[in-house]
Amino acid sequence: MNILVIGAGGREHALAWKIKQSPECNDLFVAPGNAGTRALAENLAIGVNDFEALGKAVLDKSIDLVIVGPEEPLVKGIRNYFASNEQLKNVLMVGPDEVGAQLEGSKDFSKAFMVRNNIPTAGSLTVTASNLSEGLDFLKKVEAPYVLKADGLAAGKGVIITSDIKEAEDSLKEMLDGQFGAASSKVLIEEYLHGIELSVFVLTDGKSYMTLPEAKDYKRIGEGDTGPNTGGMGAVSPVSFADETFMKKVEDKVIRPTVGGLQADGIDFIGFLFIGLMNVNGEPYVIEYNVRMGDPETEVVMPRIQSDMLSHLTAAAKGELDKEQLAIKPETATTVVAVAEGYPGSYEKGRKMTGLDQAFKGIVFHAGTAPDGDQVVTNGGRVIASTGLGSDIQSALDQSYENLQSIQWEGMNFRKDIGQDLLSL
Ligand code: ATP
Repeated sequence: MNILVIGAGGREHALAWKIKQSPECNDLFVAPGNAGTRALAENLAIGVNDFEALGKAVLDKSIDLVIVGPEEPLVKGIRNYFASNEQLKNVLMVGPDEVGAQLEGSKDFSKAFMVRNNIPTAGSLTVTASNLSEGLDFLKKVEAPYVLKADGLAAGKGVIITSDIKEAEDSLKEMLDGQFGAASSKVLIEEYLHGIELSVFVLTDGKSYMTLPEAKDYKRIGEGDTGPNTGGMGAVSPVSFADETFMKKVEDKVIRPTVGGLQADGIDFIGFLFIGLMNVNGEPYVIEYNVRMGDPETEVVMPRIQSDMLSHLTAAAKGELDKEQLAIKPETATTVVAVAEGYPGSYEKGRKMTGLDQAFKGIVFHAGTAPDGDQVVTNGGRVIASTGLGSDIQSALDQSYENLQSIQWEGMNFRKDIGQDLLSL
């Protein structure tokens, strides 16, 4: 079959890399893709939100299955666009519709969904300009640290955590005043959860589901998890504290009620569910839902899947996931993300990269790269994700870091401590 992966990051490179291994994969396209996806697929120069051009490409290239990588086209309704078009409505797609995507697109919607379905999560209050005083009272009642979340998508920047009550009050007012535009016209104040974070990934056809390998990611730019938040600086899978007992609780208290809740609400959810969890004294609490795979977590999840991912994706898109058997490799996978100088602040693009053909260990997934003639240049903040595989975290990390010694560009930066916290658990 012919497949289109929508997106341009390390996540999409990892998805394309895994799909390409399937005997069922004929022509593989990535839109817009990067220098890494160009090596295994045909890149189409189409933006992820240009539904019309994507639909036209699907027809021109006889594409049978579309995998939507990032959240934005999902929240903007790419599934609805395809479903409402006579020629496109039968094309298979992995990615929920506009309503299902609200689980990620609106934190108020997803909190109400969790509460309605008895899914463990932090207590919260949703505040708008009309109940600001109630919000300020709520802040006085909850204990520090205070967690404030813009309701809508804010490129990972819409969460403010502070222990200073004055700062929390001021931030609440600023957010409601439009600090994140329409995304913060509603703000959730949430109780702070103390624990260790974990990302759980589920592929569902709306009725059945399969739980993919879990992962831990490293969000901050600096070692020891310090400094500003980023899109993600590294990831590890499996995660030692996600043992059988904990994962059983996750399944019983979170995954099953989530899929059941979607069904009860009449939401025909076909796609990935990425559940951000906090392990609080051995109990799972949901921090957030995303409606797509994580990046860089995909770069450790896909290499650990033994079975045919294209077969699973096709079955999910057809509503036949119950026929599929997931097989997972026992190995540990780690990925270390190398970023541009200045990231997550402003950075330059177009820096020439060398040594990519000497990085023989593991897999180097491209994130923000672009071809430039025969050369490869940087084209984003997060540039590559170097994935290693091994019998334990250390041997996987050795591969991830060995590659990063071969690859170079001016100002390249990466964290040297990915996975170290798990080594000492
Ligand atoms: P992402 O970039 O992960 O999509 P987001 O903007 O959607 O982030 P959240 O995932 O809800 O926002 O929160 C970002 C981070 O803030 C979480 O990964 C977690 O570390 C922290 N956080 C959020 N809510 C809480 C909470 N209630 N208690 C403790 N920490 C929290």
